[in-house]
Amino acid sequence: MTASTPQTMGQQFGRRSWAEPWKIKMVEPISLKSRAERQQAIEEAGFNTFLLRSEDVYIDLLTDSGTSAMSDRQWAGLMLGDEAYAGSRNFYNLVEAIQTYYGYQYIVPTHQGRGAEHLISQALIKPGDTIPGNMYFTTTRLHQELAGGTFVDVIIDEAHDPASTHPFKGNVNLDKLAAVIKKVGADKIPYVSLAGTVNMAGGQPVSMANVRALRNLCDRYGIKIYLDATRMAENAFFIREREEGYADKPIAAILKEFCGYTDGAWMSAKKDHLVNIGGWLAVNDPDVYDSARNMVVIYEGLHTYGGMSGRDMEALAIGIGEAVQDDHMAARIGQVRYLGELLVDWGIPIVQPVGGHAIFLDAKRIYEHIPQAEFPAQTLAAELYLDSGIRAMERGVVSAGRDPATGDHRYPKLELVRLTIPRRVYTQAHMDVTAEAVKAVYDNRLQTRGMKMVYEPKYLRFFQARFARL
Ligand SMILES: *Cc1c(COP(=O)(O)O)cnc(C)c1O
Repeated sequence: MTASTPQTMGQQFGRRSWAEPWKIKMVEPISLKSRAERQQAIEEAGFNTFLLRSEDVYIDLLTDSGTSAMSDRQWAGLMLGDEAYAGSRNFYNLVEAIQTYYGYQYIVPTHQGRGAEHLISQALIKPGDTIPGNMYFTTTRLHQELAGGTFVDVIIDEAHDPASTHPFKGNVNLDKLAAVIKKVGADKIPYVSLAGTVNMAGGQPVSMANVRALRNLCDRYGIKIYLDATRMAENAFFIREREEGYADKPIAAILKEFCGYTDGAWMSAKKDHLVNIGGWLAVNDPDVYDSARNMVVIYEGLHTYGGMSGRDMEALAIGIGEAVQDDHMAARIGQVRYLGELLVDWGIPIVQPVGGHAIFLDAKRIYEHIPQAEFPAQTLAAELYLDSGIRAMERGVVSAGRDPATGDHRYPKLELVRLTIPRRVYTQAHMDVTAEAVKAVYDNRLQTRGMKMVYEPKYLRFFQARFARL
């Protein structure tokens, strides 16, 4: 079987192929270093792909964060930057775009997503609080913990099973949530931390039915819902594709309906919004707005720029509108799916169904002989770079960090390597090369040994930890 993108993505064209809704106006040369150079580079990087120099990388699938290609309209928008310290025109364009497409009332700009996570965590969480959510995200949970809260995972069990083909593996398990409410009391839960297309579960979506039911449950207890909207536009695509009654609705309408069930959102604009930097916090409650707007001037910048330049805000405002275009999203997710289908056809274990922004290789099943304490996913990412200059990211025991109470490694069920696809950057040929490289590493799996950690930073250790071969 060949990759079946025409069937899955191009129904409106019958059996014909589909193609991206853009053409290339400018190119950026890339090249593949020799095997000896790659060997030296990965050793110098302590076998951590975050510590490689970008120039030593051929196809960079480390992240989809800030790596998108901007459109000609966004580049033109940079020239319209109004760099006034206060009240820049571009800020008001940004506010209007967020209100139009997400529907929230009050907007606080931030330099990127974690800036917004910091503000909302400090504004809402008191020491001793519990924050239930549909699987942790690294920076989100850390900001909740630094504010004195404890994150509790209430995602459905299927999310922890890489082989489960549940269509909405990002859903909240309402029974688990009800049990948490019963245990700690609603007054100790400032909000439910809900993420669209759950990153750590493999980019898996939340259904509209689930957020509606979540809203009902939370309303009974007076609990707020705040959304990590980082990849919510991608989530809307999956709702349209998989949920009854949404097949003919535009992504923009689905996005707005979903956000309507929540009280506010934080955003890493470096993902869905097709820009290289930026973020925002959006809320409907004027008191929460007041406290976030007061804090932003301490940590980010004035409340009309929050760490972004005027031109950045203009490119972002334009990117928000482009991100919700149906043809853009079909091509974006279609390319990820193309790569996933090649790997599945070759029998390589990946998280299924393929999510929105990345392919997640199942390192536990690829390296069955390497125990989790010897970092199978970290090893796999290093091997992939060595084989072909492709840069991926560990999403397993290193990313999960240590339990703040016991100091032990947290051993997540999912031990994954993420091949993250930047938006509008690589071609189908790059996806073919990537698939072949993964296959070569997979075929060599029994010759591969695990690693030990030789340097461990205190916070978010996956960014800077160093390893050595066993
Ligand atoms: C990237 C990301 C963040 C943090 O955003 P930054 O812009 O990197 O600070 C938060 N949540 C999710 C789901 C993300 O993917």
